[in-house]
Amino acid sequence: MPAFIAPCALLPEGWAHDVHFEVSTSGHLEKITIGGSSEGAERLRGPVLPGMPNVHSHAFQRAMAGLAEVAGNPNDSFWTWRDLMYRMVGRLSPEQMQIIARQLYIEMLKAGYTSVAEFHYVHHDVNGIPYADPAELAWRISEAASEVGIGLTLLPVLYSYSGFGSQEPNQSQRRFVNTTDSYLDLLERLKPHLAIKTAQRLGICFHSLRAVSPEQINVVLNAVHLDQPIHIHIAEQLKEVSDCLAWAGRRPLQWLYENFSIDKHWCLVHATHANSNEIAAMAHSGAVAGLCLTTEANLGDGIFPAVDYFRQGGRFGIGSDSHVSLSVVEELRWLEYGQRLRDQRRNRLYCDDQPMIGRNLYDAALSGGAQALGQCVGTLEVGKRADLLVLNGDNPYIATAKGNEILNRWLFAGSDSQICDVMVNGQWVIKNGHHAEEERSARDFTNVLKSLLA
Ligand code: ZN
Repeated sequence: MPAFIAPCALLPEGWAHDVHFEVSTSGHLEKITIGGSSEGAERLRGPVLPGMPNVHSHAFQRAMAGLAEVAGNPNDSFWTWRDLMYRMVGRLSPEQMQIIARQLYIEMLKAGYTSVAEFHYVHHDVNGIPYADPAELAWRISEAASEVGIGLTLLPVLYSYSGFGSQEPNQSQRRFVNTTDSYLDLLERLKPHLAIKTAQRLGICFHSLRAVSPEQINVVLNAVHLDQPIHIHIAEQLKEVSDCLAWAGRRPLQWLYENFSIDKHWCLVHATHANSNEIAAMAHSGAVAGLCLTTEANLGDGIFPAVDYFRQGGRFGIGSDSHVSLSVVEELRWLEYGQRLRDQRRNRLYCDDQPMIGRNLYDAALSGGAQALGQCVGTLEVGKRADLLVLNGDNPYIATAKGNEILNRWLFAGSDSQICDVMVNGQWVIKNGHHAEEERSARDFTNVLKSLLA
C-alpha cells in the first residue's frame, strides 16, 4: 500500500506533526498515524493540506479570459462581456472544447484545485442541432478530466429561455437550449458512463431563473433521484433582481426559497445580491453559496455580504467560474479583501473560537466545496479520497510558519508557486509544480486559440 510521511498536515482535529498516510488501491485514505514510522514511506516536502474543490467552472470561457479588458463604452458590464462570450461559443468544436478543458484542468491542479464542478451548458452544434450523440460535448469534458486526473462533478445545464417569464431564446443561445425531455434524456445517457469513471459523478443544474420556468424545475426535481448536487446561478446582477421583481414581485433568492425546498444539496452560485432576509434563509437552509470572487470582481457584479452570512453559519465554496484567475489563493484572499474594502476594517471572516483568517477561509471553502460537489473529499481522514496538496517546505515563509500561520502566510502573502505536489485519488498529478501532460496540452491549446481568434 503506498505510504507517505508529512512533516505536518492539517487533519480534522487540527495540525499534527510527522503524519503517516497510507492510501488504498481505490485511492482513499486507508490509515493515518501521527508520529508513525517513516520506513518505506515517501517523505513529502512540506506541509500537507486537503485539496480544494472548485464549485463553479465554465471550461470553454478559459479561451477568452483576459480578452474583454478593453473599454467599449462607459456602461460596459456583465451583459457586454456576455456578447463576446456568445461570439466565441458560436465557433467552438467538440475537439476544441476538450483541448481547452484539458489545459484548464491542468492549470487548476497546479493552483490547488483537486476537483471541479463543471456547469456545462454548451450542448449542441454551431447551428443549434443536437449532435448524433446529444452528450458529445459532455463526454469531452469528462474525457478531459480523466486525461489530467482531476475529480469532476459534471453538471449538465437546463437552459431553455432568454429571460424571466419563458421568453424565447435568441440565436446566440441556440447551442444551449434543451427542452425538459431532452434534458432528462441527456442525464440518462450520462449516468451509467460517469458511474464507472474514477472520481467523477453527475449532478443537476438549472442555468438561472432567467433560463428555466418554474414548471421545468418541478418536472426535473420530480424526475430525478434527489440525493445529488443541484446548482443554479442566482442574484449575480442587479438587473436580474429587478427583472425578477418585474416578473414575480419577488427577488430571485426570495422567490426560490418561497417556491422550492432549498437544502444542503443546493449550490447557489454567486447570490451576490442577497438581502438580510435572504442571507438568513440561505444560512439556515444549509445550502452552499458558490462564491466566484475574481470573476465577480472582473464582471463588476458586486460584493456578497459574507460577514453576515458567515456569522450565521452560512456555508460557502469557491469557484473560478470564467477563469480570469485560477488560484485558490486569489479566490480566498479576495473573499476577505472585498469585505475589508467595503467595511474599511481588517480581519472580517473570523469566528469566536478561530481568529486566524486563513484557517477560517480554508476550512469553510473545503467543507462547502465538498458538499457542493457531492464528493467524498475535503478532509484528510480515513475513508476520504486521497486528494491533497503539498506546500514547499523549502520556501522561507512556509519553513518558518507554524500551524495556522502556514495558511495565513500562504493565502495572504504567498502564491500558487508555493504548491509543489498535488495528489488526486491517491495518484500524483503534479510533481514539483509540473503535470506530465502539460507540454502537449499547451501546444494543442495554443493551436486552438490561434484558430478561435483568427
Ligand atoms: Zn457561471
